[in-house]
Amino acid sequence: MNVRGPDAFLSQIRRQELTNNQEPFAIILGCADSRVPAEIVFDQGLGDLFVIRIAGNIVAPSGIGSVEFAASRFGTRLVVVLGHSRCGAILATLEELRRPTENQSRNLRSIVDRVRPSVEALLESDPGIDKDALVGEAVRANIRASVRNLRKGSDILEQLIQDGSLTIVGAEYSLETGIVDFFDGLPPPG
Ligand SMILES: [Zn+2]
Repeated sequence: MNVRGPDAFLSQIRRQELTNNQEPFAIILGCADSRVPAEIVFDQGLGDLFVIRIAGNIVAPSGIGSVEFAASRFGTRLVVVLGHSRCGAILATLEELRRPTENQSRNLRSIVDRVRPSVEALLESDPGIDKDALVGEAVRANIRASVRNLRKGSDILEQLIQDGSLTIVGAEYSLETGIVDFFDGLPPPG
């Protein structure tokens, strides 16, 4: 139906307000998974979140650059690495470790290679771990790794963190319950 509700009107006003300026209060580095759109998960509107999405919420140079840009340009003080349960990038990495694909796309490999260390470390420390537990643990380990990689990702980000102007935390969204668990660092109050 082509009838506009009050939401469309409000967002039109909001759109006008935002044409010259934006002050997103958080930067989200999230997975590209269709079930985890950051704005919907956190119930936010236009101009609220600066969102970078990439399969497996991995930290690549372009992602670090995007975080640097938003943090220094807009003064955004919070970064959330948002992973989720049953992440396909984790499952793909597990499969790759069990049965390496020949001629895997170089681009896909660049994602798997960034997830791999987290999964390998878990398999080494607990070789008998069952698959569901492994996936659950690997999702969290991968989020922690991304948080770590961002915190140490660039001189600009390190400086902002040292000055107390930037906090980077890790969270897991549950596909099953819709709950976001901030398990790695807490966002600042307010
Ligand atoms: Zn995912």
